[in-house]
Amino acid sequence: MDDSKIQILSEQVINKIAAGEVIDRPSSVVKELVENSLDAQADEITIILKDGGKALIQVIDNGVGMTEQDAIMSFQRHATSKIRDFRDVERVMSLGFRGEALASIAAVSRVEMKTVPRQQIEGTQINLEAGIVSNIGSTGGVCGTSVAVKNIFFNTPARRKFLRATTTEYRHILSVLSRFTMAHPEIEFTLIHEDNQVYHLKKAELRHRIGEVLGKHVGDSLMPIAEENAIFKVAGYLGNYDVVRKSRGEQYFFVNSRFIVDRTLSAAVISGYGELLPKGRFPIYILFFDIDPERIDVNVHPTKSEIKFADQHMLFSLVRGSVKRALLSDQIVPELQQENLPRSSKAARFRAPLLDDIKGYDKRQIALDFDAAASALYSSPEERSITQTSASAMTSSAEKTTPRSTADGMMLWQLHNKYIVSQIKSGFVIIDQHAAHERITYETVKVRFREKKAPSQQLLFPVTLELSSEDHALLLEILTLLEKIGFILKGFGGRTIIVEGIPAGMRIRQEEKILLDILDEYKLESDAKIDMQERVAKSVACRASIMSGDRLTTEEMNSLIDQLFACETPYFCPHGRPTMITMSMEEIDGRFERT
Ligand code: ADP
Ligand code: MG
Repeated sequence: MDDSKIQILSEQVINKIAAGEVIDRPSSVVKELVENSLDAQADEITIILKDGGKALIQVIDNGVGMTEQDAIMSFQRHATSKIRDFRDVERVMSLGFRGEALASIAAVSRVEMKTVPRQQIEGTQINLEAGIVSNIGSTGGVCGTSVAVKNIFFNTPARRKFLRATTTEYRHILSVLSRFTMAHPEIEFTLIHEDNQVYHLKKAELRHRIGEVLGKHVGDSLMPIAEENAIFKVAGYLGNYDVVRKSRGEQYFFVNSRFIVDRTLSAAVISGYGELLPKGRFPIYILFFDIDPERIDVNVHPTKSEIKFADQHMLFSLVRGSVKRALLSDQIVPELQQENLPRSSKAARFRAPLLDDIKGYDKRQIALDFDAAASALYSSPEERSITQTSASAMTSSAEKTTPRSTADGMMLWQLHNKYIVSQIKSGFVIIDQHAAHERITYETVKVRFREKKAPSQQLLFPVTLELSSEDHALLLEILTLLEKIGFILKGFGGRTIIVEGIPAGMRIRQEEKILLDILDEYKLESDAKIDMQERVAKSVACRASIMSGDRLTTEEMNSLIDQLFACETPYFCPHGRPTMITMSMEEIDGRFERT
């Protein structure tokens, strides 16, 4: 009799547990299946989805296919054709082969594989339920493999419950596919969701493919980069200053053909763009690095895409240098939206910091730059909440310093097209015109969310926008909110959107940029539990407001002040910065030593 408490787990249980590690949502199935198709030398890959991948994920390729024996083997744990002997292990591990993807997928879904090996007309069909083979038969057709994964997590209800809304899961899949489609412009990709063709990407040059995936405006703003040094070879594209974004979403690094996320590399690229990158903005880039595998340590955890480099600081410096040189060699003068500098001085400012940067490799300086850049880029949520707290602490002390009223006839001056200065009874007040208008717009937007129909302003010339599929999916998610504010947006097939109207009474000049900004803001917070309306309101407020640098007439200043004091919280902008500071006569007298 077996009374031991310790039991050897069955193969199915092991697979089910392991599946949790490899497969955490539909997008990881897509990643594994497409990777297998690429490994099988396919040059046409079709992805079919239903219900954001929750009901069906099917990947069809025209690769080498499998014999019946291989097809059966492929679902065994640790079955891989990619490691033959011990020497292969290191090479292959760095590419992430573990021979467990199919076994893991099959353990938590219903799978149907059809595969026809090259130069054959007959192939094999295998069906599995929860990892157990339920049918093996034959099938005909063209050479290649189709794997259909149905009802993911049907047998692990706890995990099924964790799946998010269809749109969210779909968006994760789109982002995984963006990486593959850009890494492989030589491969034809077709995506079908809910029986509609989302895209059909023909073989193309990389630049063209990027434009198709990220949108035409990105494709048109790319600057090539190609360099080689002792450590790496880098090739790809950098987006120019016209396509900087508010989130780091569209930053793609591929190291030895693998998509990775790496702080050092992204800090280096951003630092390469230099000071002219507007604050809080991130460049778009798609960079392919070839690095000697000896110098890197790939984290082979199946769902992670991180990498460790032998010499982070050296890598940082070299990457920054390459980016600077690529930007410098390009003749495009950046159009900085928020500056009204004459063209020539803009160009001078653009070039000066670049020139003195390429002056060699000072390790200490680079270490400093690196730390500064990294900390600027990755301030922790705690740090951010400290800023928030001190801002709210200031709110209460500010209540005491309320200027009296904005009675008509008061004198107003605009200081450097940035601040409004006015005499008040107790002294004077300085108002930050942008922060003040941000507050006004923010409260207006919040009111519009609650109303039935917001006033719109028809555009004389509707603006046509081609969005990336990810952005397009996002836009659909927040479309109702945007319409509530007063945007009139029309679909135009595929990912093209026509902006026909914008919110009335708001200061909106760059319809395209505003939409992208709103999408970016939303992306930054989409997984956090932050109110979606709040995010949309903040980003609209930030972009649809008077900017610092805008010249205002006296009437405009008057109306700004009136509206500001009609706000619920006039003293702070939605981000917590003060909208105004005051100085009392006593304070001024004191400074002049008039006691
Ligand atoms: P790995 O890719 O790590 O080897 P998988 O479980 O993903 O492990 O796949 C197991 C094996 O099945 C692969 O090594 C390959 O030989 C075979 N295979 C999987 N998908 C395909 C495909 N689409 N075309 C041809 N062979 C495939
Ligand atoms: Mg695989």
